[in-house]
Amino acid sequence: MKVPFLDVRSAYVELKTELDEAVARVLDSGWYIFGQEVDRFEKAFAEYTGTRHTIGVGNGLDALHIALLAMGVSEGDEVIVPSNTYIATWLAVTQCGARPVPVEPDPITLNIDPRRIEQSITSKTKVILPVHLYGQPADLAPIMGLARSKDLRVLEDAAQAHGARYRRERVGGHGDAVAWSFYPGKNLGAFGDAGGVTTNDAELADRVRAIANYGSRVKYVNEVCGVNSRLDPIHAAALAVKLPLLDEWNRRRAIIADYYRRNLPPSAVRVPTPHPDAEASWHLFPVFSERRDALQANLKAAGIETIIHYPIPPHLQRAYRSFGFRKGAFPIAEALAETELSLPIGPHMTLEQAAYVCAAVADSQ
Ligand SMILES: *Cc1c(COP(=O)(O)O)cnc(C)c1O
Repeated sequence: MKVPFLDVRSAYVELKTELDEAVARVLDSGWYIFGQEVDRFEKAFAEYTGTRHTIGVGNGLDALHIALLAMGVSEGDEVIVPSNTYIATWLAVTQCGARPVPVEPDPITLNIDPRRIEQSITSKTKVILPVHLYGQPADLAPIMGLARSKDLRVLEDAAQAHGARYRRERVGGHGDAVAWSFYPGKNLGAFGDAGGVTTNDAELADRVRAIANYGSRVKYVNEVCGVNSRLDPIHAAALAVKLPLLDEWNRRRAIIADYYRRNLPPSAVRVPTPHPDAEASWHLFPVFSERRDALQANLKAAGIETIIHYPIPPHLQRAYRSFGFRKGAFPIAEALAETELSLPIGPHMTLEQAAYVCAAVADSQ
């Protein structure tokens, strides 16, 4: 048996007629920037996430970067980020000229530990940037409480958390703004790069919209030095077709995740334990083992594709060498990078494939 890490093509095949029709409609319209396809998806995604505003942008990194710019983050400022995350979270901060201040995760939930945030806040801190890593919502209530008491803004990185819920509410409207990626492999994915920002704050939404469009609200009138980062109508039209299927696709992911949690041998791997207030979107299914590299090799030999998320934590990347972080400075993030392995999961994976993966993990002990 072959088990691919994620079969993105099957999502297309499932909705082929509607997707082909939507893309053809855009091509035929002669309207290729902004327009009604973008408006329609923005409204639908705002409704889905229970927020007032969605602003489509070019990709997830831009969503983070532009939201930080709209919050006024600039040179000399500090932004609290998880020590364990994808590099994009940090790059968005350094693109503003600000400094990422890493905070270690709770080793159980794997998300930023709210109890460790306060000691990292200084007079330069502007924003707290939690990430809903692997699709498991971070513990937002204490983070929001702390931010309010210190007059800080909260930007969530929800690139892996489409449809996930925190205290029964979908991710999207808890923080001051939420950044999304619609990269093809995400739970809601386009046919190329795409992203968005959701917020309930009309002023912030207006700033995000202007910055993403050359810093301009009126054509050829530029108020700030913005960027060109827009959601293409082709992607918007495709995303609008896929959005109604997102909950069903996440439900299928949850069935695989449940199966893994019940059937993976605890003697071989540790499995994730989401926060009790959180309903995960199961973007990824991470397991942890001190024998991670051998396990990955054995699974590969059995035809099972796996990925490490992520092998090098941001503070040890060469890109951040000039920031002076040392090895050993963030031991929880470093241990996760040495032991993590993401097993295949997705809405088109079968329980037979999941059973095969569990058997292969048991065999490789
Ligand atoms: C995918 C991802 C991003 C970046 O999204 P792109 O659309 O690839 O730019 C940011 N943060 C996290 C946690 C991600 O997984």
